[in-house]
Amino acid sequence: MYDVTIRERVRNLLDSGETISAVSRHTGISRSTVRAWRERPDHPVRRVASCPRCLEVPELPAPPDKYAYLLGLYLGDGYISSIGDPSKQVWSLRIMCADTWPGLQEECIKALISIRPDNKVRMLPRQGCTEINSFSKHWPHLFPQHGSGKKHTRLIELETWQRQIVAANPGHLVRGLMHSDGYRGINRVRHHLNGSDHWYEYPRYLFVNESRDILALCGEALDMLGVAWRYSKPNTISVAKRAAVERLDGFVGPKY
Ligand SMILES: [Zn+2]
Repeated sequence: MYDVTIRERVRNLLDSGETISAVSRHTGISRSTVRAWRERPDHPVRRVASCPRCLEVPELPAPPDKYAYLLGLYLGDGYISSIGDPSKQVWSLRIMCADTWPGLQEECIKALISIRPDNKVRMLPRQGCTEINSFSKHWPHLFPQHGSGKKHTRLIELETWQRQIVAANPGHLVRGLMHSDGYRGINRVRHHLNGSDHWYEYPRYLFVNESRDILALCGEALDMLGVAWRYSKPNTISVAKRAAVERLDGFVGPKY
């Protein structure tokens, strides 16, 4: 919902003689709401979330842990595309959630709702996964990594304000990345010893992505968590040391 400070800001701008259109442009609040607030100062605060990046003084999306998780899902397997009449500038954020990860779809939906509480969230069954999507004019503001073409064909760089959120919530970013493009499984290794084969099994995490930039972001966040990792292939980050897997389990959780 609009918090009081935004409403106060609108009132101050109106008091300073700005027009409804100018106030709307400066604050990102719709003209009808600005008009309602001007005509009825006691008008109840509408339960509509404004975009924190469209405020006169941009704010961080909240709650930050949900944002960091959603950023991880978006970077891993999310797409932002324009829908409908281009002049209306409505965007769809689509996230593909594997059906085999219990709890993932619910967590993705919760994160979407907490970041954009008034945008409807839809679930569309796809082959082996479910597309979860939500329409908003503000997705490109919240995820400025949006661009044409696949993510690995363009530079993916976080903005300063996003780095600030990730630095405070690296575990939630890694959780989102692992939920979308990661895997926790059992690795089986054969050792030939004294004339016979011995098999060893150990759990490990893999994060597979074609974007060097996204792999690097995952590695930086793992460093922040103190989780040892390495590249097992040019497009794969592996977390396989026992202590590292145990630590990562605390942020991502065992999967099947
Ligand atoms: Zn916005």
